[in-house]
Amino acid sequence: MAGNLKARSPGLERPDSIIRKTFNHMGKACEKKYYMHWVLWHWPEIVGDFIANNTSPQGIRKDTLYIYSDNSSLRNELQMMMPQIVQSVNNFAGQKMIEKVAFTKRWEKADSEGIDEIRLTPAEAEENLGRERCKMPLSPVEMQAAEVLGSEAEDEEIGRAVSNLYRKHLQLQKLKLAKSYKKCPQCGRLMAPEESLCDECRRSQRDKITAAVRQVLRDMPWARYPEVKKYVPECTTKMVNEQRSIMVQKLAADTDVNDKTSIKAKTLVMLYRCLPPEQLNEDNITRALYDLRFDMHRPKDYKAPKRYEVIKLGRR
Ligand SMILES: [Zn+2]
Repeated sequence: MAGNLKARSPGLERPDSIIRKTFNHMGKACEKKYYMHWVLWHWPEIVGDFIANNTSPQGIRKDTLYIYSDNSSLRNELQMMMPQIVQSVNNFAGQKMIEKVAFTKRWEKADSEGIDEIRLTPAEAEENLGRERCKMPLSPVEMQAAEVLGSEAEDEEIGRAVSNLYRKHLQLQKLKLAKSYKKCPQCGRLMAPEESLCDECRRSQRDKITAAVRQVLRDMPWARYPEVKKYVPECTTKMVNEQRSIMVQKLAADTDVNDKTSIKAKTLVMLYRCLPPEQLNEDNITRALYDLRFDMHRPKDYKAPKRYEVIKLGRR
């Protein structure tokens, strides 16, 4: 069985890559909408038919999935299962999609409207995953844990649904392990064997590195990649260039277009041209700021001067 699972293991990451690929075509604005559609599309598979029939996802705002249910005893039961549902959604997606689930009134215009446009996404990969999950055996202890969870519900049907959801969750965890998924060394979330960190941790690590890059550029605006690398060994050329250009944009927007003498204006030139302070002179300051004139803060009546009015002919 393990061999069989391994052979099919590329199937596991498919939902994630389908989503990514779709975003590449649709752009970032569609991302949340697509997540929503995706969750709705798979809602019965994620939570089971009973829960799916008695709830309806309304939308995703920030990191929260909002669901509506008019079944109050189910609501009570699910309230306790929220972390479970979050994990089921995220596990099913193969990536962290939501952080919380909350109940809400029925939205006048749920984000799930218009789902049919997107239903064309091939569901084959997810079906494979579902089939493999079903075959994943659970230990007596795990089965009992699921029963216990379910038995706490007052309503029998709800109890069954809750046990089911929990069993599904355990199966998916095991399935990922059986596919030689390993735990992220930082947070313990399951991740593909070829990764060294999970998506979440990788993102937060990247954020730390780029923050360190910005810090170096604040201290030494003229620093180029090799210098920055001395202080932030993990950074890449691309990161340094990106952070530099973000900082140039911000600083320019905050600097008056006629200002050529303040520390801010000079810092901007150092950052933009990678010039250390001792190499600044009137000419290179004038030229650099002329280049940046449209990114800088301009007074209302500002009229951009002609190039020859600013930069003297014959000088380079
Ligand atoms: Zn992690």
